Amino acid sequence: MQLAGKTALITGAARGIGRAFAEAYIAEGARVAIADIDATRAATTAGEIGDRAIAVHVDVTDPASIDTAVATTIEQFGHIDILINNAAVFTAAPIVEIEHADYQRVFDINVSGTLFTMQAVARHMIERGQGGKIINMASQAGRRGEPLVAVYCATKAAVISLTQSAGLDLIKHGINVNAISPGVVDGEHWDGVDAFFAKHENKAPGQKKKEVGAAVPYGRMGTAQDLTGMAVFLASDAANYIVAQTYNVDGGQWMS
Ligand code: NAD
Repeated sequence: MQLAGKTALITGAARGIGRAFAEAYIAEGARVAIADIDATRAATTAGEIGDRAIAVHVDVTDPASIDTAVATTIEQFGHIDILINNAAVFTAAPIVEIEHADYQRVFDINVSGTLFTMQAVARHMIERGQGGKIINMASQAGRRGEPLVAVYCATKAAVISLTQSAGLDLIKHGINVNAISPGVVDGEHWDGVDAFFAKHENKAPGQKKKEVGAAVPYGRMGTAQDLTGMAVFLASDAANYIVAQTYNVDGGQWMS
């Protein structure tokens, strides 16, 4: 029970990695707000994972929606100890085919969403005066370029950079900002990625997933559950002296 009595707001937690984080936090004794643009699925997820979970609607591209989600969580739980900025979308296209509108949409969700949710929760944590933990979801895609994935890679590089600056800015308030950098993690998100590569690289459905899994030194794609240990650790008191870092949890992918 490393998070007993703590409260967490997790964006994009209706499914995938965010949901696994919510389940892990509940198992460690926390109360969790499942914040997502998909309000229906957020409600289903909250209902399935237990009575210490609530569903909160948020569109992280809209500062007013973020403020409402933060206020609702504080109203329900009294305060927020932990934020995970997990909501993000993937996009892929050859450089010469990137459309401005898609670039803007993905930056709005992955970068603005991370920054302004962090800002809203940090203001609350500073006012409360008891510190807090903020965890941003980066990616190996933010560590190095990848063909066809320029915009998503650039957004995740920005998340790593925001984590460094916010981490240094906020530690004087006792707020630790760190990030997790997964490699390839199986889930619904990857169905769309696989379909894109099936089209652009003439691969059979499922082939890209098999290839990326085989290329991971650990020998397979990650699962959402592979990431939960790091998410619990970074939210716990054991991580109090860790500031502005991005941790690879990737089966060795970064080294290969
Ligand atoms: P996912 O697509 O399964 O889930 C993302 C969630 O974000 C969805 O529930 C979606 O409704 C929500 N969302 C989308 N737009 C939103 C918005 N504007 N406001 C609020 N919520 C919104 O993704 P996932 O695979 O679980 O990934 C979770 C995080 O991990 C993301 O930050 C992703 O970039 C990162 N990541 C994933 C992988 C991977 O291979 N799956 C690898 C590295 C990093």
